[in-house]
Amino acid sequence: VLEVAHLEKFYGKKHVLHDINFSVDQGEVVTLLGPSGSGKSTLIRCLNGLETYQKGTITFEGQKIVPTEKNWQQLRQKIGMVFQSYDLFPNLTVMDNILLGPTKVQKQDKQAARQEAERLLASVELSDYANAYPRELSGGQAQRVAIVRALALHPDFMLFDEVTASLDPEMVRGVLNIIEGLADQDNMTMIVVTHEMNFAKQIADRVLFLQDGEILEQTSSKQFFSNPQTSRAKEFLDSMD
Ligand code: ATP
Ligand code: MG
Repeated sequence: VLEVAHLEKFYGKKHVLHDINFSVDQGEVVTLLGPSGSGKSTLIRCLNGLETYQKGTITFEGQKIVPTEKNWQQLRQKIGMVFQSYDLFPNLTVMDNILLGPTKVQKQDKQAARQEAERLLASVELSDYANAYPRELSGGQAQRVAIVRALALHPDFMLFDEVTASLDPEMVRGVLNIIEGLADQDNMTMIVVTHEMNFAKQIADRVLFLQDGEILEQTSSKQFFSNPQTSRAKEFLDSMD
C-alpha cells in the first residue's frame, strides 16, 4: 500500500533523512525504532504531509503522491496519525472532537457518524466521557480519544508516534491494547514508533531501524530482536533493557 523511494529530507542545511527506501503491505505492522534524534518523527511526518521533503517519492495505494496541499488533505483522511501529545481541541467535548473531521471535512451523515463515534468510544471503554472536555480526562483517556478521533475518519493506514511516551506507566497498557486490537482484529496497516520494546516485539511484523537518518536494518521482527545484524542495533537493544 505504501512505498517510499529515495526519500531525502533536509532542515535547512541539516540532512536528516538519507535515501530512505521501504514499503508497507496491506495489513502489515511495521515498527520504526532508533535512538532519539535518528529521524523517526520526521519520517512519519513526511508520510502524511506534515513535513516537506526535498527528493524521492512516496506512493500510496498505487498513486504517486505529488505533495500539494490539496493532495495532502485528501491523503490525511486515509492516513490517520496519532502523536505523543494528543492535542485535542480544549473547547470541544470528546464527542465533538471526534465528530469534527467526519462531519465537517468528510461530510459523513451526522447520525451515522455519531453512532460510529459511540461505538468507537465504547471500544476504548470511554462511553461515559462523550460529553466531557479534554481537561477532565487523564492522559491515557485523552490518548484513547485521540486514537478514536483518527479512526472515525476510516483511515486505511495508521501512523503512531510514541503515543505512550508522555503517559503515566499505569496508563500505558490501555493504549497499547487498543493498538494491538487494531492490528489483530481490524488488520489495520500501520507504522508504529515506540520505545516499548516488548510491545514492539509483540506487535511488529517487520522492523525498520533508523540511525542518523538512515535505515540500517529492515528485517522481520523475529530476526531483529533475536539476531540484529548491525552493532548499532545491538547497542540500541542493549540500551533498552
Ligand atoms: P525522538 O526519539 O527523540 O523523538 P526522532 O527519531 O523522532 O527522535 P526527529 O524528531 O525526527 O527524531 O529528529 C531528527 C533530527 O532532525 C534531529 O537531529 C532533530 O534535531 C532534527 N529536527 C527535528 N525537527 C526539526 C526542525 N523543525 N528543525 C530543525 N531540525 C529539526
Ligand atoms: Mg520523535
